[in-house]
Amino acid sequence: MRVAIAGMHMESASFLPSMLDHAGFERSARRGGEIVETFAGSNTAIGGFLAVLAREGIEPVGLVYADGGAGGAAADDAFERYRDEIVSGLVALATDVDGVLLHLHGAMVTPTRIDPDAELLAAVRAAIGPGKPIVVAFDYHGNLDAQGIAPATAVFGYRHSPHTDMGETGERAADCLARTLKGALKPVMELATPGLMVPSIFSATDLVPLAGIVSAAKACSETADRYVDVSVFAGFSYADVPNCGFSVVAVVDDDRRLADELARTLAAEIRERRHALYAPEPVLELDEAVLHAAHRARTSVGPIVLVEHADRNNDSTHGIRALLRHGAERAVVPNLWDPEAAAAALAAGPGAELRLTIGGRSGPKTGGPLPVEARVRSVAPQLVYRGTGAMRRGSLVDLGTVAVIETAGLTITLTGNAHTAIDEDALTQVGLAVGDFDIVLLRSKTHFRAAFEPIASEIILMDTPDYGPADLTRLSYRNVPKDVVFPFIQDP
Ligand SMILES: [Zn+2]
Repeated sequence: MRVAIAGMHMESASFLPSMLDHAGFERSARRGGEIVETFAGSNTAIGGFLAVLAREGIEPVGLVYADGGAGGAAADDAFERYRDEIVSGLVALATDVDGVLLHLHGAMVTPTRIDPDAELLAAVRAAIGPGKPIVVAFDYHGNLDAQGIAPATAVFGYRHSPHTDMGETGERAADCLARTLKGALKPVMELATPGLMVPSIFSATDLVPLAGIVSAAKACSETADRYVDVSVFAGFSYADVPNCGFSVVAVVDDDRRLADELARTLAAEIRERRHALYAPEPVLELDEAVLHAAHRARTSVGPIVLVEHADRNNDSTHGIRALLRHGAERAVVPNLWDPEAAAAALAAGPGAELRLTIGGRSGPKTGGPLPVEARVRSVAPQLVYRGTGAMRRGSLVDLGTVAVIETAGLTITLTGNAHTAIDEDALTQVGLAVGDFDIVLLRSKTHFRAAFEPIASEIILMDTPDYGPADLTRLSYRNVPKDVVFPFIQDP
């Protein structure tokens, strides 16, 4: 048996001015046998696909997979080219393929499309015909609806954020496909939506009450006397789309009524807990957060982690400005995206002292470029490594040109490629150690928790006037159905 593997992956914040074109996606694109070389053994959905196919003696046929990460929209041209490449690959395979495994994010948008993931899924179904199984592993932050996923045989999502179970999710998806191909399973699925959007920071699955809901979904599978798999999707609230927000998908062996009941029951529980899910923890204003961190850092054991969560492009300068304003010391800012400043520091070389303008280039809400007098600590023309953290284990990380600079009490890593720092790799791969710092300024929403919760003396969520505020009512949505979705509905 042969199964095709393909995907196009991007989390798109509609309100960002930036857009990723085909060339941008091509940096990560893998085709044919490269897909196996790149992902086998990694904690990724495709790594999970490959593990199960190898175990089941099914041959993987790599088509194309491109990952645009998290940012603004994907260019229409990029979407159309990957869609057509996947479709033509399947058409060429014709009867030589028994099923398809896709890895999609579920929250991609393009300038003219509000649900390209659904369009891709429909195109894949049209290409292989009605009889063959298509199984999808989506990101937990995918915005899904019943119509969009209907062309798939079954869909699965990560259970955790931080996404430490990406590989496991790929395995759940591929296991369903393999059993279906062997005639041991007849999957049917149902989707229910509770009508709730939460800011990304509060999609972390160890927060209460979300932790209990995620556990309940997992328990459905473990306690059932037949094949049951329930995924809770938090959705991605910075995509302005009609299906924005939570959804629950139940995949059951040949029992549509049970699938419907499981999905609806869990969706009702989410709806019931909407107020607590929307704001489970305080979010401090910028100066209050930084003053608190600087004060606590004098006596704390373990670093204070400041989370500039509203940054959506890894280049905002609100947090750095506040740290400088309040004279913070022994603070580190990993992965500030600025190709120009990184290149200038690279050209100057280690030990050089120069005036640099850093960050804030991706849009007017980022805080704007910040001039600093910097000393270059170290540089690398291109830094590529395989992740060692719980979530990115085995994944290739390409930071592009990297420069570590020092200014006042801050150590800042400038990167040529936008890549969110989520674990200690962000420090150790550039020769820094978390133990050398009292304050760590991050832009990760939930993924940092896997590495930093165990070592931080305190985690401080802070709001800035940026593209991804904690208060979603500050955003000008045009496509979200405000009459049915919390927090927009009148719901005292
Ligand atoms: Zn995600």
